[in-house]
Amino acid sequence: MGSDHHHRKLHVMFFPFMAYGHMIPTLDMAKLFSSRGAKSTILTTPLNSKILQKPIDTFKNLNPSLEIDIQIFDFSCVELGLPEGCENVDFFTSNNNDDRNEMIVKFFFSTRFLKDQLEKLLETTRPDCLIADMFFPWATEAAGKFNVPRLVFHGTGYFSLCAGYCIGVHKPQKRVASSCEPFVIPELPGNIVITEEQIIDGDGESDMGKFMTEVRESEVNSSGVVVNSFYELEHDYADFYKSCVQKRAWHIGPLSVYNRGFEEKAGRGKKANIDEAECLKWLDSKKPDSVIYVSFGSVAFFKNEQLFEIAAGLEASGTSFIWVVRKATDDKEEWLPEGFEERVKGKGMIIRGWAPQVLILDHQATGGFVTHCGWNSILEGVAAGLPMVTWPVGAEQFYNEKLVTQVLRTGVSVGAKRHVKVMMGDFISREKVDKAVREVFAGEAAEERRRRAKKLAAMAKAAVEEGGSSFNGLNSFMEEFSS
Ligand code: UDP
Repeated sequence: MGSDHHHRKLHVMFFPFMAYGHMIPTLDMAKLFSSRGAKSTILTTPLNSKILQKPIDTFKNLNPSLEIDIQIFDFSCVELGLPEGCENVDFFTSNNNDDRNEMIVKFFFSTRFLKDQLEKLLETTRPDCLIADMFFPWATEAAGKFNVPRLVFHGTGYFSLCAGYCIGVHKPQKRVASSCEPFVIPELPGNIVITEEQIIDGDGESDMGKFMTEVRESEVNSSGVVVNSFYELEHDYADFYKSCVQKRAWHIGPLSVYNRGFEEKAGRGKKANIDEAECLKWLDSKKPDSVIYVSFGSVAFFKNEQLFEIAAGLEASGTSFIWVVRKATDDKEEWLPEGFEERVKGKGMIIRGWAPQVLILDHQATGGFVTHCGWNSILEGVAAGLPMVTWPVGAEQFYNEKLVTQVLRTGVSVGAKRHVKVMMGDFISREKVDKAVREVFAGEAAEERRRRAKKLAAMAKAAVEEGGSSFNGLNSFMEEFSS
């Protein structure tokens, strides 16, 4: 950085929503900025700081001269009407879905109480900018009081942002006869087909609907948007977004690929419920591109009947698999077909709880990914060059599915029809699981999908290298906010 000596260091504050799908990419982003010479500060609550401290220590040990820190805000759960210590979506594990849903909604609204602390901190520290999560719409106003530019981090890609925008403006769902009748999303490039059951109905009068309106308004009033994506992946949608939705957008991803070594890849989220080295050794014993990795992210739960069908479908497909099963802590195990684990021994591995996902995806034996289409998972799958079985459950995951199946054409849909409110998922039979998994591995179409997926992986890596689209995106962002 020689000639930059006389410049003051850029100070960027990051404020992630407290859920793994938001904290993980934000942590990657903070590390990235710091590795390019900025000072990064991550704002979070006491228990979440414990989650982030370990990967930050790892990063600091590897890069002793770089600056990255955590600033802790109080979060009095009990006073806010939340169970003690529930500072992260992950901590809401009730087996009762109505309870869980109600608590998570309450948690969403409780974060507003962090606003005063944010304002005090901005007043005393005056960072160069604040990259705050979309779920903190009030951060725009807080930052505005002290002339700190507020940027929005949605955690999702351009495609879903554009799809949501077009549906919000044109309301095509109002013109179909039934909620399962397919329609083309107006104005959105690519003639993307979707149904009402799969979209996020943002203009409802519900508390959540009003909240989403506030989220959109805060984006309009913000200084711009930082996107975890790369231009080559969704260029039509990056262009559309910048010309029709929000001019000021910078893409700097895929963020997961900045984690290079074993330690960094293994340590991004929770402690894995399996020895990472054991898991990799198991994969070492498998042929290249022969194993399917099955995961539904950090929030979705399935009912026992659904888990049973997944097990039966995987077994019927005859494919080697690693299947991550997330269950409510108080649930007893009655979800596996009888004798299942015995029968699939050596062929299939079940990880109960948390898997070292990026390590598994990046292993050469992994050849496919059954995913709930969370954006981080999609990008991690793209960066690993994998064809996918798309199985969206909730949030914006159906939009992400359409990108994979209709634009990138690297995925086979399992056939989930409906967005299900409490992240429980639409019921899918074993036959559908079996069929989709087979389709990813066999036949000419499968080979083409795999070829396209590998090409995208190469583009993803090039994007973050010096001179790549995301590398340049970060440069221009840093220049913009340094002055
Ligand atoms: N993840 C993981 N192990 C697991 C489950 C999830 O490492 O067992 C990570 C995954 O690699 C991704 C994030 O958690 O980075 C999940 O984010 P995503 O956007 O895919 O889905 P969400 O959890 O937000 O629904």
